Formats: sequence, structure tokens, C-alpha cells
Amino acid sequence: MKRGIHPKVHDNGIVCSTCGTNWKISSTRENLRVDICANCHPFYTGEQRIVDTAGQVDRFMKRLAATQERQSSIARRKEAKQEAPPKKSLLKELYGEEA
Ligand SMILES: [Zn+2]
Repeated sequence: MKRGIHPKVHDNGIVCSTCGTNWKISSTRENLRVDICANCHPFYTGEQRIVDTAGQVDRFMKRLAATQERQSSIARRKEAKQEAPPKKSLLKELYGEEA
């Protein structure tokens, strides 16, 4: 092996940030991390679940709650508007019912 031309090889492995499994592998890069691996991916485990490492489900649930709140407030305002008595005509107010 010629000296000084080969990169340093690390045996740290790859660490899965979801389940914490350490996969033994040699690499020239240190501290390799993956979001999901074969040990915890729903395709391999066979269970139905949503893997949410980026917080996308939480973000969606927040947006959904905000939208539902907005829609319910709009519906409440519409109901309040419909329940209000109709305005009297200005002509009837000035001249009475005969006008
Ligand atoms: Zn994993």
C-alpha cells in the first residue's frame, strides 16, 4: 500500500436515529447517521405506522387545527348574522309605515 494517498477509514458504523441501531460498516466518513433503517422501517417491520422524523405530521396537525378553528369561527359569525333582526328601511323610519 502506497503511503500518503489513502484516506483514513473509520469503523464507527452507521447509527439509525430512529431506533438507535448501530450498523457495522467501514467508511471514510465519521459519524454517519440515517433517519430510518431496515430494523425500524415499516416495510420491513410489517407494522403500519407513520415515521415522522422531520415533524411533518405535527406541522400538518397544527395546520389542520388552525383551519378547523378558522372555519368554526366563520360558521359562528354567519349564524350570528342570520339571527340578527333585519334592518328597518330608512324611508319607513322617516315617514312611518304609510310611506
Ligand atoms: Zn432504525
